[in-house]
Amino acid sequence: MISEKMTELGLKSSVIRELFEYGNKRKAEIGEENVFDFSLGNPSVPAPQKVNQIMLKLLTEKDPVTLHGYTSAAGAMSVRKAMADSINKSFKVNATPDLIYMTCGAAASLTITLNALLNTGDEVIVLAPYFPEYKVFIEKAGGIVRVVKCRDGDFQIDFNALEKAINKNTKAIIVNSPNNPSGVVLSEETIITLSKLLNKKSQELNTDIYIISDEPYRELVYCDIKVPYIPEYYDNAVVCYSFSKSLSLPGERIGYIFVSPKVKEAKILFAAVCGAGRALGYVCAPSLLQYTVAELVGETADIQVYKHNRDLLVKALTNYGYTVAKPDGAFYLFVKSPERDATSFSERAKKYELLLVPSDSFGYEGYVRLSYCVSTKMIEKSLPQFKKLMDEYR
Ligand code: PLP
Repeated sequence: MISEKMTELGLKSSVIRELFEYGNKRKAEIGEENVFDFSLGNPSVPAPQKVNQIMLKLLTEKDPVTLHGYTSAAGAMSVRKAMADSINKSFKVNATPDLIYMTCGAAASLTITLNALLNTGDEVIVLAPYFPEYKVFIEKAGGIVRVVKCRDGDFQIDFNALEKAINKNTKAIIVNSPNNPSGVVLSEETIITLSKLLNKKSQELNTDIYIISDEPYRELVYCDIKVPYIPEYYDNAVVCYSFSKSLSLPGERIGYIFVSPKVKEAKILFAAVCGAGRALGYVCAPSLLQYTVAELVGETADIQVYKHNRDLLVKALTNYGYTVAKPDGAFYLFVKSPERDATSFSERAKKYELLLVPSDSFGYEGYVRLSYCVSTKMIEKSLPQFKKLMDEYR
């Protein structure tokens, strides 16, 4: 018999996908320019020119057998060294190449890390609102998902709720800041409090609790605020990084795992990462991309476009009477639904050709997510529609 669980996953499309497909249908009916699709988080600014230049250079100058050959399973040593150097340039964490594992993006980083850490029945805490794939990844790794809701309004961690959720089976907590879907950055104070709580609980319960820091949006920050680097605050930390959003390369599938040298038995955890990569069939991340990102350390796509879009939307929407979560990073705006049921609000928004994702799919009620990685022109044209939509609630 074919796996029922996998069949179900394959057949069930997400609310986001459904909305996206609906948008495509509407675009065919009334014209692309008349549909305001805020559903998908696909970067809308091109990768920096330098990406193509480096790829061309590699394709013409590097030995093709090496360039297109397998690297070691964890990635080419020169690339892993470049990643460690780039981390050490920004943070005081003593990253070493032997604790870096190159991956096919954050999704692979997360599945590998979870499989490396979890034994059947271990619990992983996710902070709602959360990226829906966490549930899929955790369950496939044999874990149990425990949802802890963030505080309504500022979306920082609710430490009372978190403390209640931690028990002897808690193996890890996934932290994602800047956050998809809320756009919120967890403050330094929040990360310090989190570290203290986890240290206290680890001692009390005589267990190791890991923070898995999912960081595809690290560089996408639009104001002068610090995005705390978890390994600087907490020892048992693993960073799941991706170049998908920072370099606008989501289809190329490249990222890495960094096991902090302060992790208890870091070398053993790294061996488990290699074992999980092997068991999941990730022999080596695409080598052309590995060599490319090694030469792009510190580069990002032109994120000013996102900042402009964010400012435009926040100003207009708050003027019309909407409430939004403080949108410091990523390219998502979390807007409070003017009615209790966000799905019903999202349905009503369709009347104005606005495609907004109800927050229930992120484990949180009462909001909609807007992805503003879209053209500024589309946002400008959509604003009167947002106004008309809000007028229905007056
Ligand atoms: N984690 C979060 C929070 C995301 O939003 C995404 C993608 O949108 C991912 C992980 C997966 O990223 P990648 O494309 O690098 O696999």
